[in-house]
Amino acid sequence: MFFDSSESISGGSRTSTEAFVPHGHSLDPFACPCCANALSESLRLAGVDLRDHAAELRSAPPKVAEASFITNAKIMTMDESCPNADSLWIQDGRIAWIGWSRDKPEIAADARVFDFQGRTVLPGFIEPHMHLPPLALLDSFENIGPFRFPSIDQALSHLKETAREVPVGEWVLGRQFDPSLQDGPDVLTRVMLDRVTTEHPVLVYNASLHLAYCNSRALEVAGITAETVSPPASEIVKGEDGEPNGVLKAGPAMAMVARHNPGMRNQNLAESCLEVFKRANRVGITTLCDQGTGLFQGPRELDLYQALRKSNRMTARFRFSLGHTLAAEWDKTDIAWGQGDEWVRATGWKIVSDGSNQGRTGLQRQPFLHSSEQGIAYIQPDELDKAVEERLRQGWAVCIHANGDAAIDHALAAYARAASLGLDPGGRRSRIEHCSILHDEHIKKMAELGISPSFLIGHVYYWGKAFVDDIFGAEKSAKLDRTASCEAAGIRWTLHSDDPVTEMGPLRCIENAVTRSMWKSEELLSAEECISVDAALRAATLDAAWQCHSDHEIGSLESGKYADLVVLGSDPREVEPRKIHEIEVLETWVHGERVYGV
Ligand SMILES: [Zn+2]
Ligand SMILES: [Zn+2]
Repeated sequence: MFFDSSESISGGSRTSTEAFVPHGHSLDPFACPCCANALSESLRLAGVDLRDHAAELRSAPPKVAEASFITNAKIMTMDESCPNADSLWIQDGRIAWIGWSRDKPEIAADARVFDFQGRTVLPGFIEPHMHLPPLALLDSFENIGPFRFPSIDQALSHLKETAREVPVGEWVLGRQFDPSLQDGPDVLTRVMLDRVTTEHPVLVYNASLHLAYCNSRALEVAGITAETVSPPASEIVKGEDGEPNGVLKAGPAMAMVARHNPGMRNQNLAESCLEVFKRANRVGITTLCDQGTGLFQGPRELDLYQALRKSNRMTARFRFSLGHTLAAEWDKTDIAWGQGDEWVRATGWKIVSDGSNQGRTGLQRQPFLHSSEQGIAYIQPDELDKAVEERLRQGWAVCIHANGDAAIDHALAAYARAASLGLDPGGRRSRIEHCSILHDEHIKKMAELGISPSFLIGHVYYWGKAFVDDIFGAEKSAKLDRTASCEAAGIRWTLHSDDPVTEMGPLRCIENAVTRSMWKSEELLSAEECISVDAALRAATLDAAWQCHSDHEIGSLESGKYADLVVLGSDPREVEPRKIHEIEVLETWVHGERVYGV
């Protein structure tokens, strides 16, 4: 059983050279960016085995949580029975008492006392949908994406500066290149990357993780020439002269280059997961939830999670949903819903039903703008019905990724069918991930069934203009991420980053939901869906805890819950809404200990 065994959970042979290709949609080399197996092939060819990384992770002595008294703070508790307070008494990682200092209990003489000088304190933010192992792998890659560099020229000059600091011969790595949002050419060629450096191999991933680009040095190190044959289901792109032009399409072609990066072998991915937690702490996150465990390296990922837990070095709590494409593998293990503890716990079963709207693979009722395409179903409705029924019967909360309106039709039909069989998808807190295009009848049905959406709110801000102008047109785009309509229907909803799709940043997500402003546009995307700051804060704390089956222990600041909190430079309710993302995260506390502070 997960956590109760000192042995490897994934079992089996220790050779890491067997092919690891999840079934179903992941064979599609251009599958959904958050669910693709593009990186797993690189790991396999590089001989990386997560079980080794798990075994090598250094442990720290068990944490001894010191007693603390926080006072003179402006605390928003998210507990309806006592919404505000100024003091907090922490013992053994939990809140022993919260209230007004005039009523404070007897405080132990040796307790640490913190005067917060009126600063705003909230429950720690909860990220209900991200992807931990891919982020860990990409941790050593420089983010040169559109949200840091609006133009490709700027991105490449930054990479050039980075290269100057890297010893000759070592790899220069980039990620998040996105020609759909960055000004400049559509691809990065070998010639362009040779201008960055010819002394180091350069490898850059597209934000979709379905394409990569490399320079001449990298091609040389990988031994790729005009004669090299592309591996199946992928392409080493060649120019008119027949020479590889540096563009690599799909996982197997990318892996032919990526496998030669020694960093891939030397990096301990368990250590990198801990770095991802630290990065989350910097934006105020105290709990994260991986939505697709196994797509990276199968059940071995559970060994990684177990090692993180045992290391005593976690600075954020972790929840996870098992990826359905690995169902046959999970069925060989005895992993079950709820296994784990307050630090690491299995809470969901994730099924991907379509692609992404911005990638034009989300499944639609009507074709995309200027197109006859209607997207891709990654699972057929009858198969989805069966999977939802089976996993609910086993006690799992089901999380269905559905972006297009037709995919949401199928997801709701599967939940309705399960309910008609006497199962309770709503009671299990089943979700629809992204849940991007919602018609009124969807919202009504979700309220009836108790299904809860988690919105990738960056769709509105980052891609909103592209949805209106190129993908859906104004009318359908207005149905994107309908937070206010869900709120009005009494549905609990949350916001997520889907990192690495967009970067983790709860304050940015809150701002996006409150303002519905769009990047590179003066207009708002369906202003009637703007939500209050209070509602967005609740979504990012208590309701995200609820979706992750953890509201009994985190999500609000109340007596008995864990002391996970964030200290902000300003009160999000009092700043100009378009400046919410600029609010400084001053401190982040997990389990009564400060894990981040400026
Ligand atoms: Zn995702
Ligand atoms: Zn997804």
